Amino acid sequence: MGRQQLHIFFFPMLAHGHMLPILDMAKAFSSRAVTSTIITTHLHVPMFQKAIQNSVDISVRGITFPAAASGLPEGIESVEMVKSEEMFAKFFLGTTKLRGELENLLEELRPDCLVADMFFPWASDAAAKFDIPRLIFHGTSTFAMSVGESLRRNRPFDGVSSDSEPFIIPELPHEIKMTRGQVSLFDRKKHEVETEFSKLFKDVKASDSNCYGLINNSFYEMEPDYVEYYTKKLGRRTWHVGPLMLCNNDADGEKAERGKKSTIDEDDVIQWLDSKPQNSVVYVCFGSVSIMTRAQLQEIARGLESSGQDFIWVIRKCVDEEDSEKWFPKGFEDRIKANGKGLIVNGWAPQILILNHESVGAFVTHCGWNSTLESVSSGVPMITWPMFAEQFLNEKLLTDVLKIGVAVGATQWSRVSVEVLKGEKLAEAVARVMVGDEAVAIRARAKEMKDSARAAVEEGGSSFNDLDSLIRELSAYR
Ligand code: UDP
Repeated sequence: MGRQQLHIFFFPMLAHGHMLPILDMAKAFSSRAVTSTIITTHLHVPMFQKAIQNSVDISVRGITFPAAASGLPEGIESVEMVKSEEMFAKFFLGTTKLRGELENLLEELRPDCLVADMFFPWASDAAAKFDIPRLIFHGTSTFAMSVGESLRRNRPFDGVSSDSEPFIIPELPHEIKMTRGQVSLFDRKKHEVETEFSKLFKDVKASDSNCYGLINNSFYEMEPDYVEYYTKKLGRRTWHVGPLMLCNNDADGEKAERGKKSTIDEDDVIQWLDSKPQNSVVYVCFGSVSIMTRAQLQEIARGLESSGQDFIWVIRKCVDEEDSEKWFPKGFEDRIKANGKGLIVNGWAPQILILNHESVGAFVTHCGWNSTLESVSSGVPMITWPMFAEQFLNEKLLTDVLKIGVAVGATQWSRVSVEVLKGEKLAEAVARVMVGDEAVAIRARAKEMKDSARAAVEEGGSSFNDLDSLIRELSAYR
């Protein structure tokens, strides 16, 4: 490994929503002659290895996730495999045990910088031991980071009388309203009794202000007020280098296979989309972690059918999946097969490929940040259906600030859907985004945002320049 080149360690959380953008980030750095080493646990090494086979400057090193020592069943090695809240806490605490092996690798390879996930607050101390800067990767919008700070500092939800009464989030560049039911349970709780888990989350929040800086998968033109707010008002050093997925190459199939093998043949999906008119298909996918109940899935099926639009629907799993009884509304599958209106993907879809197809006219999304950016980069308007994490905050950016999304009306923060939104609500939101004057205006704004996203990563664009200045600074630090 040539010591002339800057060498960066990338250490993502064990979840596709974090590993995929970090993989893209390593590719973006390697396109500027930076050497990258991705650190992950053994289960995920093959996924990364497959994805970097064309990149000489990126390598992967595997470490061991101590599932049993963390009180988890053997083999649990990803947030996506975690089923209960109790396992969730054990899993996150388990990741703190990765520190020893990370430090061994820092010692062995002596990189110039460590880019580590926000969920690894202890990584700052690990980097300090080797006298290298630690950058934090959040994997979300600067908007969500700004709103989250205000919510935690001001606790405006303490003053409302119910989970459904709206309140205004103070100190922000826009008037943003939300309800207590939409606020993350971690932020709502006061944690009067500190546990190991609540301490870890406190450390996660605190580490933003005691690290070298933050590297965000976003771009200035998408949220300029919040980039200013976060960097100037909150005083955080931040580089915006996204949308990182745009560094992927069609020719190498990097867009077709991301993270997991699709459970549907890519050519079949494209052929099906080719047979549909422009902007006519609604794509529905709720990411890799959230879980829908059968009751909710039934309502989605009803809503999609009654919207009258063509659709591709990715179904990950439902919470009572052991129950083998069919949960689709009566005759649903036969009808959509017969009239060719819908395509069901049970498992994993080639999302970027689908979003980039000109027949796709809207995306029903849980507002995970990667899905959001992928939709923005493809110019596809969104129907927003947040569930947990910071997804309700991303929704506000899309519906209230950028106005490129319409909310279905989710009100309860939960990883497993706890409310059952009626199919009619989905059909109404689909109609608003797909037909009429409002739809035309939303589509025009989405198209503008796509153009700025692409311009940001091209030579001379805001993200291109931010990445350059970060590399220059890290080289000088060395
Ligand atoms: N994804 C995909 N196919 C699927 C589901 C998800 O390729 O069927 C990808 C998606 O393109 C995105 C990532 O997985 O890059 C999900 O990240 P996001 O932040 O949207 O949501 P999360 O899964 O973290 O909730």
